[in-house]
Amino acid sequence: MTRTMLAARFHEHGDRDVLRLEQAPIPQPSATEARIRVHACALNWLDVGIRRGPKFGAVPLPLTTGVDVSGVIDALGERVDDWSAGDSVTLYSLVTCGECEFCRAGEITVCPKHRIIGEHMDGGLAEYLIAPAQNLIAKPNNLTHTEAAALPVVAGTAWHMLISVAELKAGETVFIPGAGGGVASMGIQIAKHAGAKVIASTSSAEKMDKARELGADHVVNYHDEDWVRQVIAFTGGRGVDVAQDLVGARTWADSLRTLARNGRLVVCGSHSGAQLDLAIPQIYHRQLRILGANGATYNEVCLALDLANQGVLRPVIDRVLPLTAIREGHRILEEHDHFGKVVMQVGPADKP
Ligand SMILES: [Zn+2]
Repeated sequence: MTRTMLAARFHEHGDRDVLRLEQAPIPQPSATEARIRVHACALNWLDVGIRRGPKFGAVPLPLTTGVDVSGVIDALGERVDDWSAGDSVTLYSLVTCGECEFCRAGEITVCPKHRIIGEHMDGGLAEYLIAPAQNLIAKPNNLTHTEAAALPVVAGTAWHMLISVAELKAGETVFIPGAGGGVASMGIQIAKHAGAKVIASTSSAEKMDKARELGADHVVNYHDEDWVRQVIAFTGGRGVDVAQDLVGARTWADSLRTLARNGRLVVCGSHSGAQLDLAIPQIYHRQLRILGANGATYNEVCLALDLANQGVLRPVIDRVLPLTAIREGHRILEEHDHFGKVVMQVGPADKP
């Protein structure tokens, strides 16, 4: 008889009520894979977006999403030598081909054949998941499973956007909208670590305090009509060197307005909308640069996790919920009712 496990999955795309908690077969690792007993799995906007319907082609159904996983290796394929059962691990989520010109050049985030754990294959919102051994990362010792699950996607993405793509330098000023978002809350900390000055925006006095606690030098409330002017005023009228935007259509125009001449807008994500009317002359007149960033490399995620292990970056966790509350987890993301990560506790009680 096939052994089964509890999994949060959906058989069709749609609203939150397509999410079901049900028994699914426990997957078996192939020769080069590991099976992980999941302890914690953080939610990302990807979980909501894929549930509603994927932007980039079909995904297999039924699907268990869940990209950010921390747990313990439970079984290994016979060709995996570098890991042992019982090792605590977290995951790098991009599965790349290793053969294309981009993979060979180390630019794996643009591999045209890349797949994502929790999107193109089952992810961590279940008691067990399978991952290629090359995607495993040792869980940092000083972090609990809950903390480790809260980091890889957001910390890696923020690092890739600000440091690798936008080439943020010490002394520059960066604007980070939507400070309560997972990537934004890591972006604030990474930018400060890089020696930049950070201006953040968010929606309430409470969230403004939290953004300051993370290190933001100046925080504006985007419900203020003149918040763009407040951002520019803080830079002495010059504008910011870099704006990090994950929000999309709702914030792009304003993010561009905050930029100094020669400023860079670095973007990843469009959950507030994917289409927009854009005034083109400002781009060349002020010589702005718009830079796309996609995910993060394995090394970038490891660097960010190491900084968290040293206490330089702090995982920002809004709340921890049991897997049975998966629909509530999606609601919190869809209604922006959070500051930092929502982590689903899947496995045994958490300890470092
Ligand atoms: Zn490739």
